[in-house]
Amino acid sequence: MSNDLGKCLICQRDTDAMACHYCETNMRRQLSDMPKYAKKASERLEPRPGGTRGTEPGFGLSMAALEASCGYDAIAVLESWVRDWRETYGLVPYGVATETVAHRDLLANICLFLGQWLNRACTDHPAIDSFAAELRQQWAAMREGANETPPNSWVIPCPADIDTDDGVATCGRPIKIIDVDMEATVTCNACTTHWRVGRLLYVGATTIGGGIYVDAEAASQYLGVSERTLRQWAKSGKIQRERGRYDITGVRHGD
Ligand SMILES: [Zn+2]
Ligand SMILES: [Zn+2]
Repeated sequence: MSNDLGKCLICQRDTDAMACHYCETNMRRQLSDMPKYAKKASERLEPRPGGTRGTEPGFGLSMAALEASCGYDAIAVLESWVRDWRETYGLVPYGVATETVAHRDLLANICLFLGQWLNRACTDHPAIDSFAAELRQQWAAMREGANETPPNSWVIPCPADIDTDDGVATCGRPIKIIDVDMEATVTCNACTTHWRVGRLLYVGATTIGGGIYVDAEAASQYLGVSERTLRQWAKSGKIQRERGRYDITGVRHGD
């Protein structure tokens, strides 16, 4: 099987392979990150000296950390790809090959195998783009569980109704939120409306003319597409872009 389109199935860069070198490098890094994230997440579950556990409210531990430390989701998803690749490339079937692997080593074992066969899969596996999308999703979830997610910020056009000479209009002044504290209050510089952060996010997500603008990496993860696809969507008007940020609430499907 060779790639007749001459373009990477994932990012559309020119290549004779199914996936280009950039995408291969990216996936390789994600595969090597995941066992590290599982370890970091399990460390987050241990009680800290001084009696505090984690930072999330609720019952004292982070569900994301719990999930990532076990890796059940990631294992289930990636296992199906190990099965697929083993079959595609005529290798010993998955269950037989992993019989003696202890559960705690399973995720690392799976990632190691996928890393070893990644170059081959990027060369000729016709579903490498599906693999890339599922890997990215699992990687992002585990990264969150390990608390390794880079600090994010959101920009929300102020959705307050204001009176103008022509009647009621939406304020629209961008409000930047860096603090994830949903109870914090922010004030619009233009109309001076005070917003609770949680309320502002909710109204921004549900109001016409609102929106939640995030950076390209976050948008790409949230929507499960490459940053290149995002740029194409912005060009065709499928997604709104402002100063390098994308509105993740306004994507029109089926266009
Ligand atoms: Zn690519
Ligand atoms: Zn405003």
